[in-house]
Amino acid sequence: MSDSSVFQRSFGRSYPVAVSGAGVYIHTTSGQKVLDGSSGAAVSSLGHGHPAPIQAIVEQAQSMAFAHTSFFTNYPTEKLASLLLQQSNGAFAKALFLSSGSEAFESSVKLARQYHICNNQPRRINFISRKYSYHGNTLGALSAGYNPPRRQNFEPILSPVFHHVSPCFYSRDARDGETEDAYVSCLIQEFEEAFSRLDPTTVAAVVLEPVSGATLGSAPAAKGYLPRLRSICDKHGALLIYDEVMCGMGRVGTFHAWQALGNVAPDIQAIGKGLGAGYQPISGVLLARNVYKTLQDAAGDHPFISGHTYQGHAIASAAALAVQQTIIDDELIPNVRRMGELLSKQLQELTPRLKEVRGLGLFRTVDFLTSPDHRIASKVAATCLEQGAAVYLCSAAVDAVMFAPPFIINETEVHELVQIFVTSVKQVLEEAE
Ligand code: PLP
Repeated sequence: MSDSSVFQRSFGRSYPVAVSGAGVYIHTTSGQKVLDGSSGAAVSSLGHGHPAPIQAIVEQAQSMAFAHTSFFTNYPTEKLASLLLQQSNGAFAKALFLSSGSEAFESSVKLARQYHICNNQPRRINFISRKYSYHGNTLGALSAGYNPPRRQNFEPILSPVFHHVSPCFYSRDARDGETEDAYVSCLIQEFEEAFSRLDPTTVAAVVLEPVSGATLGSAPAAKGYLPRLRSICDKHGALLIYDEVMCGMGRVGTFHAWQALGNVAPDIQAIGKGLGAGYQPISGVLLARNVYKTLQDAAGDHPFISGHTYQGHAIASAAALAVQQTIIDDELIPNVRRMGELLSKQLQELTPRLKEVRGLGLFRTVDFLTSPDHRIASKVAATCLEQGAAVYLCSAAVDAVMFAPPFIINETEVHELVQIFVTSVKQVLEEAE
């Protein structure tokens, strides 16, 4: 739309107007049907126009849209919390619901700080996070993350308590012939050094995405990384926070991404995106029992004072509850594994000039073998959109596009997505020659 009054993401670009959605497709005013190959940014796990959350939203709006959590709790929020805790097999004892992933991440950080205050360790103010991570666009989340273009203009007003170590990106960063084990040992050593440099008694938590999303493109933690990190945190009395805003809620083929990566639970976990699957803006924080108990026991002396107007929103919770119940009832997580394998296989077989297909479940990235002067991912993503498929352009740290289609995708649609992608890659390569 060229005469838009909306402050759009990019100046000087005209965006198609999305008017309706059905299944894996979004329809625009110009009559284009776009296959939502990345669920936006790994959001629309149930696809578009699904009757279950729509009905839940309508019914909840009719009975009670909103009741402020300073005064009340409400059934959908209570039921959603119970469902998530039950699905987590005892890893978590409480759930808090907010609106965006950034809010969930910031609350996770604040809860870690609160935990140490309640534990009589107020000196713990430092956080160790990782380069090329993304945790959101609010100032705290931007400080923790490390997406250079997003940070650049705001660097002087970011928080200095976040200290960045290397990401876990075995497929790109491992030296020739280096085993996964040896690679992980180097990274663990770097964490140890960061703890020593900061003084381990000042570290509040280590924060990370178990599968890096927006910046590196579905890059999973290497084997042994999360268990070894858990041991370091335990040794130094620091908490372990996972940001599963993008990679969680079934996206990689398990309910939590960490369940596919050594099954090591965190102390605090941020979730979002696929929680409400875009039907409502909703995110959450899951707290392990030890964290919650410490906060609860010290609440008289150290109450946690941190509320958001829309936390525990009744309509948002009702939508998320319907989304999550449908994912369970329709056995969509097994479909994520099946369709993820198919997508990965087809991408590997058909894509020309490909460096790597990485990822898990329906969280897959194609990385091109390019030098910085010959990048093609951005043109490929733009061409895909023209040809009828939306795919996610990863950050400039890689020349890559990410696929994260809705969990309801079927074989025919996977094939269509790959066909559009392969045609687009060929077109971009031909134009470059
Ligand atoms: N954390 C991760 C891992 C994300 O990928 C994102 C968004 O892409 C966020 C946090 C921030 O979520 P939101 O954009 O909903 O604030």
